[in-house]
Amino acid sequence: MDVIRDNAALRRRLEASRRAGESLGLVPTMGYLHAGHLSLIAQAGRENDRVAVSIFVNPTQFGPGEDFARYPRDEARDLALCEEAGVDIVYAPEVAMLYPNGQPGTVVVPPESLTGHLCGASRPGHFTGVATVVSKLFALFQPDRAYFGLKDFQQTAVLKRMVADLCFGVDVVLVPTLREPDGLAMSSRNVYLSAEERQQALALSRALQAGWEAARRSGVSPDDVLNTARSVLAGEPALEVQYLELVDQDTLAPLETLERPGVLAVAARLGRTRLIDNVSLEGPAPLGGDRLDRLERKP
Ligand code: AMP
Repeated sequence: MDVIRDNAALRRRLEASRRAGESLGLVPTMGYLHAGHLSLIAQAGRENDRVAVSIFVNPTQFGPGEDFARYPRDEARDLALCEEAGVDIVYAPEVAMLYPNGQPGTVVVPPESLTGHLCGASRPGHFTGVATVVSKLFALFQPDRAYFGLKDFQQTAVLKRMVADLCFGVDVVLVPTLREPDGLAMSSRNVYLSAEERQQALALSRALQAGWEAARRSGVSPDDVLNTARSVLAGEPALEVQYLELVDQDTLAPLETLERPGVLAVAARLGRTRLIDNVSLEGPAPLGGDRLDRLERKP
């Protein structure tokens, strides 16, 4: 496995691979890898000749007062996990390699229709930071495919749109959210949670499960789904809910009817930690199984 910190060295390494006709899958991360990241890496390995992982805590996607400085980092452990997972190239640059003047410079601004609500409302500039750094990675790697987790659902919509609008010619592959056995969506930020908060955080996935189940009942409206999920969140007073929305899976516009594919998405603060989670109403239940189906199956 090659660990590369320098853009020129990265280009030389990729050129050798390209000359050999090898396809390349890229998995962009901010490090502190967990099983969710590893599922992206595994899928990239199945679908490409070579797999590259970038590890970069991107300062331009953090707002003032957010957790850039204290974001968890453990490069030695990340490299060991990548090696074990069969990764070919790890790109782990210093900030100055991607932002030479310490300034963002040219930026990529995604459309307001995709970034004006959900996470974008409480994190102004966040998706400009994400789109900008992913553009840099695409320009450097020119991968055949890039892998992103549906855990960051709004990010996937923004990046799919960016790739289409800017003609990147990269196949954006979306990977389902991996959860802890009790339902909590895996996240590098879960390490911030105290034991008590770790339990309280389960209200997020429980609320999504309740909303997902409500959506399967006949005659329900988007408001019914939202109210069902909201009542579960309300049962956990420690959660400071930032949003609970049911949106169109592509346009992110609020869903007016359950006839369109929708995503139920939530963000909440728990002490100093901000958590997000979401579920596609068309996909599998977030907690696995479906209590309604089980009830119906009973003789
Ligand atoms: P991050 O390091 O948090 O920027 O995440 C890097 C990539 O891993 C992003 O595409 C995330 O959406 C994805 N990811 C993070 N958590 C999970 C998870 N629990 N399951 C699947 N993918 C995830």
